Amino acid sequence: MAELRLNPVTRRWIVTGKRTVMPDVLEETGACPFCPGNERLTPKAIMETRDPSGAWTTRVFHDRAPIFQIETPLDPRGEGMYDLMNTLGAHEIIVDTPQHAVSMAALPEEQLARVIEVCRDRILDLKRDRRFRYVSLFKDQRDITPAWLAHSHSQILATAVLPQIMQVEFRWCQEHYAQKERCLFCDMVEQELHQDKRVVDQSLDFIALCPFASRSAYEVWILPLRHCSSFENDMAESARVRALTSFFKGCLQRVENISKALHIVVHTEPNLQARGWQADFWQTIANDFHWHIEINPEIGEERRVLGSEGFYFNPIPAEEAALVLRALSPGAEPPPAE
Ligand SMILES: [Zn+2]
Ligand SMILES: [Zn+2]
Ligand SMILES: [Zn+2]
Repeated sequence: MAELRLNPVTRRWIVTGKRTVMPDVLEETGACPFCPGNERLTPKAIMETRDPSGAWTTRVFHDRAPIFQIETPLDPRGEGMYDLMNTLGAHEIIVDTPQHAVSMAALPEEQLARVIEVCRDRILDLKRDRRFRYVSLFKDQRDITPAWLAHSHSQILATAVLPQIMQVEFRWCQEHYAQKERCLFCDMVEQELHQDKRVVDQSLDFIALCPFASRSAYEVWILPLRHCSSFENDMAESARVRALTSFFKGCLQRVENISKALHIVVHTEPNLQARGWQADFWQTIANDFHWHIEINPEIGEERRVLGSEGFYFNPIPAEEAALVLRALSPGAEPPPAE
């Protein structure tokens, strides 16, 4: 069975060992398990949304070969100086649409809003489990892939440890707030609006920008203009979901003009109800952290990650990328109202 091991030098958790494949899933070559009619090829649904005719519009189920498993006891233990634990967690798949081979940008707004609501509800539900310290929401959209990957889906990981990237973001936001009593992201948004060199799009509620130190060409971040640390709480009202949906869709359409292969991730606050946090550690989180979406397109030969040393090489500066993305029409639908 797989286990979680901590690299004590980088504080990065590594999942090592074999993933258990769920036994109740049949193998059938050629069939897309995410398409309507093939539901028997996936684990049982945790949640489904349905249209008035009763047909499902989104489906959520456990990954058939989960990286994390919900029934495992955490059992944190040591091996001499090293820390390890079981891979307690949840790994869920959200099928974004019954339609095969449709990219996220091409989903009708009504369907995209439904996906955002389902993601919100799954995060809220998983955060009720006090064993989980963080819930990650992400999506890998590939351009050329095996057929089953061509069906739009998102993934959720709920874990008893903080992912390293979030440890880093939370730490520097906390530090910025301790020094200045201001949110780092709010400061960033203010400067970006003032300089207007890296802004891709803006609505009444949201801003999209190419971050100053973009990791990849045409990287885009979407942030709410109104400060909020929690994606799932910010999306409580349907008017807010609708506002994000139309803005997000426009951004996706712009980015998909460059590449359809995208990595999309939502960064939100940790599970503040989780057990085991040091008292007062998250005292300023509601003020110091600002939820956001990061979109990283993959562009064939341009992709040069000097990953082994932690450097990224990006041939297109953020200012240039923003100019190109700004000029690209978001598609057939009118751009979000100002
Ligand atoms: Zn399919
Ligand atoms: Zn803020
Ligand atoms: Zn982030």
